[in-house]
Amino acid sequence: MADKLNAVKGMNDILPPESARWEALEQTVRDLMGRYAYRNIRTPIVEPTALFVRGTGQTTDIVEKEMYSFEDRLNGEQLTLRPENTPGVARAAIEHNLTYDGGKRLWYTGPMFRHERPQRGRYRQFYQLGAEALGFSGPEVDAELMLLAHQLFQTLGLRNIRVELNSLGVPSERQAHRAALIAHFQQNADQLDADAQRRLETNPLRILDTKNPAMQPLVEAAPRLLDYLGDASRRHLETVQSLLTACGVTWTVNPRLVRGLDYYSHTVFEFITSELGAQGTLCGGGRYDGLFEVLGGKPTPAVGWGMGLERVLELLKEQAGASAVPVPDAYAVIPDAAALARAMPVLQQLRAAGVGVQMHAGAADGFGSFKSQFKKADASGAAYALVFGGDELARGELTVKALRDGGGAQTTRPLDAVTAWAATLQSSAPKETPGSSRASLLPSDHGLGVPSSAPDQSN
Ligand code: ATP
Ligand code: MG
Repeated sequence: MADKLNAVKGMNDILPPESARWEALEQTVRDLMGRYAYRNIRTPIVEPTALFVRGTGQTTDIVEKEMYSFEDRLNGEQLTLRPENTPGVARAAIEHNLTYDGGKRLWYTGPMFRHERPQRGRYRQFYQLGAEALGFSGPEVDAELMLLAHQLFQTLGLRNIRVELNSLGVPSERQAHRAALIAHFQQNADQLDADAQRRLETNPLRILDTKNPAMQPLVEAAPRLLDYLGDASRRHLETVQSLLTACGVTWTVNPRLVRGLDYYSHTVFEFITSELGAQGTLCGGGRYDGLFEVLGGKPTPAVGWGMGLERVLELLKEQAGASAVPVPDAYAVIPDAAALARAMPVLQQLRAAGVGVQMHAGAADGFGSFKSQFKKADASGAAYALVFGGDELARGELTVKALRDGGGAQTTRPLDAVTAWAATLQSSAPKETPGSSRASLLPSDHGLGVPSSAPDQSN
């Protein structure tokens, strides 16, 4: 036998029934984005390396050590698998002049790639959801974006997520603070770890971001950027805060919240849980008024956030417990090839009418006994078995057998009336349809939980 090949370390397969939780989450996201009038954008996974060097920042962990970069074999171009999508969205907005007629609200989701040490909540390929508002300078859009993230967590039924925010002011305010910060750290140079010593030269603000517990007292005592804000910056922050409060969102100021990225200004924020260990940041974002210029665009105010979907699903698993996985409405029991030829057109009609049907598929040497097919019908979780038996078919009929509530009740139906019958079916399976009702978004019914015992979906 040939050698077995495995997925790349830190890059995961998402398999059924787990993938159903992803689909339900994505559906909830789509509905909510629509309600806030955010429109979907899809940019390439591969971008020029220079986009991230400039747009993410030379001195960030991402650019320093986490990017999957390679040279295009044919033309030598330097390319990178996107580690985040804000630079890609900004590039696309500049390239297509998206903000020429006013602000744009956009959202995206998709895989991102970072070469990190894989652990719970930290992978080398992971999925981010992001929302970006381009061309709006007012604090109300910062608040709107935070409310959007907050409402998504609420809709999913998640609890105990705290909101931290801070302001990075504008470049001149940061410069004044930077000088004070460098002085503080230089006076205590003996307490800096190697990382911090290096950052003192490249990006001292990021020392505040350290995860080293030994450095905490020094970082706590550092000058606070908040104390360097001018009136306008202070007002911006206060407006965000009061709008959040007015909408019932509790927040705290974290003066050490700086985010790893260089292009931020004014508002920065994170949504954090204590229930996922060290990987507790579910969502991080802020205002990045400087990015468009760095990428060769016209000055354009912008604000956005990115959310790690693996972490969101992990927290759902912790908090929401079990819930349903999708099941077909009906399972088609098909004894032989002659019955199959009659059955498949009927199944097509049923599916066109919106009924979910799982078709029995046999091995090359036969279709399997009725007994084994009914076992699979039960395991599928379907409410009904549709039996295409030879005798019934000869009469132009099929047998409908209730598998769950009806306790085995059985009726025959004319083949040409089966679609009409199906239309009267009260499906008991949880369903998410575009624009689905509020009820289907409630925690007990959102389909995102973990099944305690998943029905066998194989046939
Ligand atoms: P962290 O401090 O956890 O490394 P970050 O500051 O690098 O996070 P961002 O670049 O702001 O994260 O990305 C936004 C969100 O994407 C994070 O809050 C997190 O939920 C998620 N995320 C980031 N890196 C990973 C990863 N390697 N695996 C899974 N999710 C991730
Ligand atoms: Mg990181």
